[in-house]
This record gives sequence, C-alpha cells and structure tokens, in this order.
Amino acid sequence: MIPAAKVQRTAATVVSSWPYAPAPESKDIVKIADRYGLFIGGKFVEPLSKQHYTTIDPAREEPLSEIAQAGKADVAKAVRAAREAYTGRWSKLRPSERAKYLFRIARILQERAREFAVLESRNGGKPIRESRDVDVPLAAAHFFYYAGWADKLEYAFPNRKPRPIGVAGQIIPWNFPLLMLAWKIAPALAAGNTVVLKPAETTPLTALLFCDVLRQAELPPGVVNIITGDGRTGAELVSNAGVDKIAFTGSTEVGKAIARTLAGTGKRLTLELGGKAANIVFDDAPLDQAVEGIVNGIYFNQGHVCCAGSRLFVQESIYEAVISKLKGRMSTLRVGDPLDKNTDVGAINSKAQLEKITSLVASGVEEGAEIYQPPCKLPERGYWFVPTVFTNVAQSYRIAQEEIFGPVLSVLTFRTPDEAVEKANNTPYGLSAGVWTEKGSRILAMAQKLRAGVVWANTYNRFDPASPFGGYKESGFGREGGLHGLEPYLALEEA
Ligand code: ADP
Repeated sequence: MIPAAKVQRTAATVVSSWPYAPAPESKDIVKIADRYGLFIGGKFVEPLSKQHYTTIDPAREEPLSEIAQAGKADVAKAVRAAREAYTGRWSKLRPSERAKYLFRIARILQERAREFAVLESRNGGKPIRESRDVDVPLAAAHFFYYAGWADKLEYAFPNRKPRPIGVAGQIIPWNFPLLMLAWKIAPALAAGNTVVLKPAETTPLTALLFCDVLRQAELPPGVVNIITGDGRTGAELVSNAGVDKIAFTGSTEVGKAIARTLAGTGKRLTLELGGKAANIVFDDAPLDQAVEGIVNGIYFNQGHVCCAGSRLFVQESIYEAVISKLKGRMSTLRVGDPLDKNTDVGAINSKAQLEKITSLVASGVEEGAEIYQPPCKLPERGYWFVPTVFTNVAQSYRIAQEEIFGPVLSVLTFRTPDEAVEKANNTPYGLSAGVWTEKGSRILAMAQKLRAGVVWANTYNRFDPASPFGGYKESGFGREGGLHGLEPYLALEEA
C-alpha cells in the first residue's frame, strides 16, 4: 500500500506540471485593409494632408495597416460634414427614428462581435477574453441603452425642453477603444447631435471597422465622422470653431490643456481623466473574494484602466494573510498572447507606455518600496510587463501618487476606517474606489466619505450602461453612462 502522504505529494506534482495547451483565436475572422482613409460624410476619403502612419500589433511588433493622419483641413471638412448632417437631417428626425438607428448599430455590433474582439486584441494588446466578454458586449449594451432614451428625453428631463446642442467633437484613448467610442457616440446621437470622433493614434482599427457598421445600419451620411491621427489632430478638433461640445477621455495633462484652450469660448466640455484609486480591504472582508477583486482591479487590461485599483489599502490585522494570498494568486496569472483564450494579462499597448511603466517602477525601487513579481516567461517580441506588487510603500512615493497605467499595484495599510478614508482621499484624483467589508453600514459610510465618482462595494471594475461614471478633482468633470450621460449632450431649460 502507498502511504497517504506520498499519494498526495504525487498528485500535487502531477497537477502542478499540467501545462495549458495554446488556445488561440483565429485572426482570419477579420480583414484589415492595408491602408485607411478618413470616414467623412458617410464614406472613406483620402486625407488632404496626404499623410499616413503605421499602426501595429503591440504583442508582435508587426505592422497592421497604414492610418491617415488628419490635418487641419481634414478636421474642418469632417466638422462641416457633421454640421450639414445636423442641420439638414439628424436634428429634424423624429426621436423614435434616431432610436432605430441606435438599435441597429447595437444589433450589428453583436452580430459582428467576434470580428471586433479579435481586432481590438490585435491592435491594442488586450486579452481576447476581455475584448470578447467585456469590451464588445458592453459597447453593444451602450447603444441598446441609449437607443431606449432617444424618444423619451421629455420624460427623462421633465419641463426642461431638452434639445440637442449640435456637433460634438469626441477624443478617446487607447485602453478601451471600441467601448469608449460607444460611451461617446451613443448618448450624443440619442440626444440628437452629430459627431466627429478621433480614436487614439495607437488603436484606430476598431473605430474604422465601426464605420462599416454605420454603413450597414444605413446611418445618414455625416452623422458620425471618424478622423484618425495623433494629438495634433485632437488639438485641431478642440480648436475648430464649428464644434459645439468637446468630450475628452485621456490624460489629465491633455485634459488641462483642452480646458485652457476652451476657456471663454462658450463651448461645452466634459473631461474624463486619470485616476489613482484606492481599493480598501477591511478585516471582516471575505478574503478570497477580495483577492480576486484586487487582481481584477489592477491587472485587468494590463492596468491600462483609469479607474484601476492601483493603491491597495489593507487593514493591518489581515495584512500578512492578504499579501500571501495575493502573491499566490499572482503566480497563476498567465501573461502572453492576447489572442490566446487562456491569457489573463496581454501586451502593453505601446513602447512609450512600456517605458513609462518601467521608469515609474524603477522609481518605486529607488524610493525604497519592496517589489514582488511572480516568475513569468515573457514572449520575446512585443511589449510586456510582469504583474507587479509593491509593499512597504509610503504615501509620498511616486508609485503611490502618480498614475502608472500599467499592471503595478502599491500596497499601503491602515488601522481605522477614518485613517483609510484620509489616506484614500490623499490624491489629486477622484475617479473611483473599492471597499471590501461584510458590513453594509460601513459600505454606506465609506461611500459617503470617499471623494470618488464611483465606489464599488465587494466588487471592482464593474460597468453598466445605466450607471454614471466620472470623476472629481483632477479626474475631470461630467458623467458618462445613465441619464447623467445624456445631460452634457442636451440644452436644458431651468426647471
Ligand atoms: P495617454 O497619455 O493615455 O496616451 P492622451 O491624453 O495623450 O492619453 O491621449 C488621449 C487622446 O487624446 C488620444 O486620442 C490622443 O491622440 C489625444 N490627444 C493627445 N494630445 C492632445 C491634444 N493636445 N489635444 C487634443 N487631443 C489630444
């Protein structure tokens, strides 16, 4: 007979050596053109600037396509197309007709979900599991949700005579390219505005595929125009006099520059900027669930998330237990090919972002924090960063103050709820926070005291089109999602 202890050891050895078989999603589902123009007035046109740049797959450092760099004249052309569509047709359309287009877009996004998921993962580096299960379904859900409001605005804002405001200029970042497009376009159209949208320079491809969805949905020409290019194109859009409203999601630095440009112009502005969220774990929290929430909070989308739970606050009495569970869980994260369905952490979006993460992590080590990275074999090509946790972090360290926008967590501790609030609020940002506790009254008390636009309780990074999202302080102003998300796109009379 084999002694029991020996059986267990043998089983453990066998289990730990089980490798995953590769499970890559096929790339063939989506066709990428060699070169794209600008989508203006319902069709692709060559950029007047005659300039293109190359967009790549950050996991392979391979070129994917040539993308137009829109110049001043291109931006002006797109804004004119949006204006013509607004005055000529869209603003006169019955609201229930607007709703029909939004429903159609939502349905087509669902039908073509796999194409969008693969393209999003190829161009941005995010795991297919996330683009397939989060980005694309949520993008469709936003269009469904706002389609429902399009003909109910009078009920949503009673006695306030809601009217559209005109042409919306929208600038989005590279972390959730299709989802941010949906957050921007769906409420703008539902409210009766037309749009010029600029995706981020590193991730234009799903926005360009979305133009084909608009064609399929037979959206009238010029209602949505997509112009590509880098920050210079964004700056042109901001300063174009034909734009009535700017909606921007991106860095706090660029957000401040946009606010300066628009000051005194009378143009509307909403800004959704950076964050340095506190994820707070109390000693009565269900620890295994909390550890999942910590991991989801910071390693989801490689930490390229403005509301990422990048500062973990653990109550002192459970510190050792949480850190040991967290390190154990981190060692199971699979980093690698974004198109592999087993991958948890994909590629860093760009070389520049990898350099930024690397330099902030180096500052953490230099300032005296203790770094932990699980053993992890990274692919040879592409931009990668091992999931990282810092302990022994002081509030003054750069890794506790600055947004890293990468898979890097800083752990701090607290003794009392008041201390947790004080430390959590000790940041220039105020986008989101998480609270882990079994006590309902504590959740409510914390949510009231935390200066953050979104407070998650016993969960993290959970999004819903019906739920408003946005920040305080240097995280920006204005809300997206829910009824609140319609307001910035409407002229409303005082009640
Ligand atoms: P990140 O640092 O996350 O790349 P950015 O704020 O630089 O964020 O970029 C977010 C979006 O803003 C992108 O679409 C980018 O091209 C655009 N952008 C960058 N600079 C400017 C600017 N000066 N004016 C308007 N848009 C800009």
